[in-house]
Amino acid sequence: MVVQNIHPKSILPKGIHPMIVTLGSHSALQILKGAKDEGFGTIAICKKGNDKPYRQFKVADEIILVDEYKDIMKLEKELNQKNAILIPHASYIQYVGIENLEKLKVPYFGCKAILVWESDRNKERIWLTRAGCRFPKMFSRPEQIDRPVIVKFHGAGGGKGYFLAKNEKDFKEKIKLHPERTFVIQEYILGVHMYAHYFHSPLTNETEIMGFDKRYESNVDGIGRISARDQMVLPEGKVDPSYVIVGNIPVVVRESFLPRFIEMGENVVKESKKIVKKGLFGPFCLECVLTPEEEIYVFEISARIVAGTNPYIDGSPYTWLRYDEPMSTGRRIAREIKLAIAQKRLADVLD
Ligand code: ATP
Repeated sequence: MVVQNIHPKSILPKGIHPMIVTLGSHSALQILKGAKDEGFGTIAICKKGNDKPYRQFKVADEIILVDEYKDIMKLEKELNQKNAILIPHASYIQYVGIENLEKLKVPYFGCKAILVWESDRNKERIWLTRAGCRFPKMFSRPEQIDRPVIVKFHGAGGGKGYFLAKNEKDFKEKIKLHPERTFVIQEYILGVHMYAHYFHSPLTNETEIMGFDKRYESNVDGIGRISARDQMVLPEGKVDPSYVIVGNIPVVVRESFLPRFIEMGENVVKESKKIVKKGLFGPFCLECVLTPEEEIYVFEISARIVAGTNPYIDGSPYTWLRYDEPMSTGRRIAREIKLAIAQKRLADVLD
C-alpha cells in the first residue's frame, strides 16, 4: 500500500521532504502521528499480522510488511530512496539489535553510541552515579545480601521472572528456579515508582521535562488486590511477584520535586557528553523510585522514547505549559528534525 501524501499543514522548508519511518510497535502510533502533525510523510514497517492499528488509526502514509522486524536490514535501499529518517524505540533495539544498528545505513534520529552504555547494567550504573544520581546498591555475591534485593535477569524482556529476596538463604532457594540464567542483584527500594520523560535538544541545548508515568506490571500490581490470607492459600509460586509491563498510567509529580528532576536530566546529559561523542539527545527516561524520605533513586535509564509517553499523544500537562499546543514526545522528535532542517543542522540530530 503506497499513499504518498505530505500532510496539508506541512510547513517544511521547500524542496526537502524526508519521510519518518519506524517499526510498527511500542510507541509507533505517536511517533507517526507526531510526524504527520509536523508535515512529514510516514512509513510504518509492520510485522505481518500486526499492521491493523497503523491502518485503523491512519497514522501511516505507507505500510511495509515484513516477516521479521530484522528484515528492515533488507530495506536500506528502499528507505534511502524515500529519503527516510528512522526513529528508534525499544522494539527496534530489542528485535533488530544493537549490533545491526551500525550496519543499517539509513539516517537515524538519536545517538547510537550511548545505547552501549544504556544496555550494559554496569556501564549504566557508572554513568548515572557520575551524573550524581542515587543508584540502588549492587551486590556482586549472594553472601553480601544484607537487605531486601531484587534479582534481575539479563535479556529478560520486561521484568519476567524477576524476584525479591530478603537474604542469602532466600536468594539461593529462589534462584534454583532459574538455572543457567545470568542475573544482577540490586537493592530493592521501597517507595513509589516514577518514570520521568525528557527530551534533550542539541539545537537549543535544553533538557525539557515531557511528562511522568508509572507502569502497570503483571502480576505485581494485581497482588495487592488479594488479601494476605488468600495469598497464603494460592499454589506455590503463584503469588511470587513478576514485573511484566502491560500498560502505562499518567502521573503528575509533586511540584516541589520538579527542580530535582530537571537537574537530574541535565546532569545525565552533561555526563553523557563525556562518555560518547555528541552525547545523549532526543527523548530519554529516568526510571525512579521515590521513598518516604523524599529520596529519588534512579534504577535505570532508557536512552530513547519510552512507552510511558504513550498516554500523552495529545501532550502532557508539562508540554501543555511549554508549548500551548498538543506536543507528544513523538511530535517533539519530528519538530526537532524540522527545526534542524530549517537551520541546516540535520547532521546534529542524525547518526
Ligand atoms: P525495561 O528495560 O523495560 O525498563 P527491565 O527488564 O530492564 O525493563 P527494570 O526496569 O530494571 O527491568 O525493572 C522492572 C521492574 O522492577 C520495574 O518497573 C520496577 O517495578 C521493579 N524494580 C526494578 N528495580 C527496582 C529496584 N531497585 N527497587 C524497586 N523496584 C525495582
